[in-house]
Amino acid sequence: MKAIIIGAGIAGLVAARQLGLAGWNVLVLERSAAPSPDGYMMDFFGPGIEASERIGLYPYLAQAAHRVQAAQYVDRRGKPTASLDYSKFSDLAGGKVLTLLRPDMEAAAREALKEVDASRLDLRYGVDIDRLEVRGQQVHVGIKGQSQPEVGDLLVGADGIHSAVRARFFGPESEVLRPLGMRAAAFIVRDPELNRHYKNRFVLTDTVDRTAGIYGLRSDEAASFLVYRHEHGAPLGPARDRLRSIFAGCGAQVDRLLMQCPEDPYDDAVAQVVMDSWHVGPVVLIGDAAAAVSLLAGQGGAMAVCAAAALGDAVGGVTDPGQLKPALARYEQAMRTKIATAQASGRRAANSFLPRNQLGLWIRRIIVNSTHLPGMDRLVARQIVKRLAK
Ligand SMILES: Cc1cc2nc3c(=O)[nH]c(=O)nc-3n(C[C@H](O)[C@H](O)[C@H](O)COP(=O)(O)OP(=O)(O)OC[C@H]3O[C@@H](n4cnc5c(N)ncnc54)[C@H](O)[C@@H]3O)c2cc1C
Repeated sequence: MKAIIIGAGIAGLVAARQLGLAGWNVLVLERSAAPSPDGYMMDFFGPGIEASERIGLYPYLAQAAHRVQAAQYVDRRGKPTASLDYSKFSDLAGGKVLTLLRPDMEAAAREALKEVDASRLDLRYGVDIDRLEVRGQQVHVGIKGQSQPEVGDLLVGADGIHSAVRARFFGPESEVLRPLGMRAAAFIVRDPELNRHYKNRFVLTDTVDRTAGIYGLRSDEAASFLVYRHEHGAPLGPARDRLRSIFAGCGAQVDRLLMQCPEDPYDDAVAQVVMDSWHVGPVVLIGDAAAAVSLLAGQGGAMAVCAAAALGDAVGGVTDPGQLKPALARYEQAMRTKIATAQASGRRAANSFLPRNQLGLWIRRIIVNSTHLPGMDRLVARQIVKRLAK
């Protein structure tokens, strides 16, 4: 049996490993010319930890993780207004909260792919797909510059929130994308001063309708992410100018960061993908393509790993195309509740993540700072861990 996986993000790479280990031949087709060094910091915990431990991916991820000591909100002078001790969350989750840079997480998944017999695996970057078709029980994938299509028994759409596989076989994006009223941008800068200033600390601006987060990486770099309110469909100017104007007045370090913003950074709507079904014939969607939960849930990477593991479990033993339908139904069944819970958590967070006024900021400060009161730290941390990891 042969699977063709579109997209070499976390979902596609882990699915390739699971199917390869189960004895499938796997072809992974990625649009980017090479693994991207760009990204943002991601928390990884709860169901993602369980799934990664079960499939043997956890040691690879743990090796790539950063040691975050604290998360702080700061005013425009950089003075902390509220802070959280990261180790409390980690302790309550049995020491198993990983914080990873997205490219490091993908590099860890590529490293884990080495367990697959090389003759079974073909991972290609810089691929331009120009045709996706189902013919009988097979899938045909046309590639620009290649005369013959690639033919497989299963097509896995792991091509992210704006999935082309989904658009081709399940209908237009407008029918499944649920914007949450904000956008997020992210980029990494090489700046020893910002790096020193934010080393091992995750610092967020305590600001109405927008927040800029900065984290000092291991080398001389700093990772950022910027979230701001934006009505979906409202006009968008050039990203860099827009970010500079929206985040003006958030403080000297944010100004310094935005001076170094690339012309075309990652900048996209914060949204979820909600679908009734994730498979049709020999085509299946996983990760953000099937069910993006949004960065507000803090679990998209975890859900991608869970989905890839569930697909491997359900489909790994299939030896005949006739067995695919019930196997894909089992994959969906294994993921539905997890996705519903994570998406509900993302929608709840959408109401509180960007306070709309000073009162909202004040309430958030009280909640975050209450973690320093004896007993409250464990209570609040436990509530957060329970809510996010359910
Ligand atoms: C700012 C920000 C912060 C986040 N924080 C967290 C967090 O703390 N914790 C967490 O768990 N999640 C977080 N997420 C979400 C997480 O990044 C995603 O849910 C996760 O990366 C989804 O993985 P994926 O493999 O499904 O999709 P993606 O990572 O989007 O990968 C899709 C891949 O497919 C490729 N592709 C796309 N189209 C094509 C095509 N036509 N042909 C070939 N290849 C194609 C892309 O280049 C990409 O490599 C965050 C997201 C953002 C934006």
